[in-house]
Amino acid sequence: MPITAVTGSSSGIGAAVCAQLEKAGHTIIGIDRIADDKFTRIAADLATAEGRQNAINHVYEQSKGTLDGLVCCAGLGVTAPNCGLIVEVNYFGVTSLVTGLYDALAQGTQPSVVVIGSVAANQQVATPHPMALAMLDNDEALATQLANEDQQAHIAYAASKYAVTSWCRQTAVNWGPKGIRVNIIAPGAVETPLHQASKDDARYGEAVRNFVAPIGRNSEAAEIASVVSFLQSKQASFIHGSVIFVDGGMDAMMRANTF
Ligand code: NAD
Repeated sequence: MPITAVTGSSSGIGAAVCAQLEKAGHTIIGIDRIADDKFTRIAADLATAEGRQNAINHVYEQSKGTLDGLVCCAGLGVTAPNCGLIVEVNYFGVTSLVTGLYDALAQGTQPSVVVIGSVAANQQVATPHPMALAMLDNDEALATQLANEDQQAHIAYAASKYAVTSWCRQTAVNWGPKGIRVNIIAPGAVETPLHQASKDDARYGEAVRNFVAPIGRNSEAAEIASVVSFLQSKQASFIHGSVIFVDGGMDAMMRANTF
């Protein structure tokens, strides 16, 4: 029975991932800000170095040092309390956990990491923002400072998703020889509490509500979770270092000639 850790397990995409992986026979170790009696067995604040280390320690303890899967769903959107937090959770909360759990993943059977990125990452592809470059330099203090000075949540969000996607692809290259697969799913608009908060936001609501995928609707969290389940299965054994858009055609609409 595979043992899989899932961050952001209490809500939205993460909760849907836990439900589907459990059905597929995985033992789930859920991580979120507050533990619950469903999937979230580890309470940890992934915005801080201590919280991340606490999560890593508890995963080692609960998995007995062997992890077959890691799915990073925890994230903050444009309505986060401040822009620095977006960077701390969406980038450093992911990279620290993936790196910190390397030894457990290396012990796993056909181990696989999936990180939830975003189509928003592609707003940064042509010219990455200095805060994205600071993230990729692993300079959390500078990246957070730049995000808080800039105070544009959509830029911090896109930069965090660009940087985490780029980092995952570099990690895929480094970890391929170890047999640990690493992939990124880039959703478009998914009906979750995060997306609802964006739709209700005074600054971003109108733009978010008007940005509709070619397929004509937003996705349900389960439609993202089913792709995670596939990536965590043996059927996906040669998919590695890929960015998989699950976005109803949004990326095709914005960048038909770039792939
Ligand atoms: P959500 O708000 O429903 O779930 C996010 C979860 O992350 C929550 O349970 C929250 O408690 C947890 N989290 C946030 N900060 C944390 C912290 N400091 N420590 C521990 N846990 C923390 O949102 P969602 O829409 O399911 O988002 C999941 C992922 O999908 C995010 O990375 C988000 O950026 C990404 N995404 C979402 C959409 C969308 O439209 N919903 C689109 C593209 C990408």
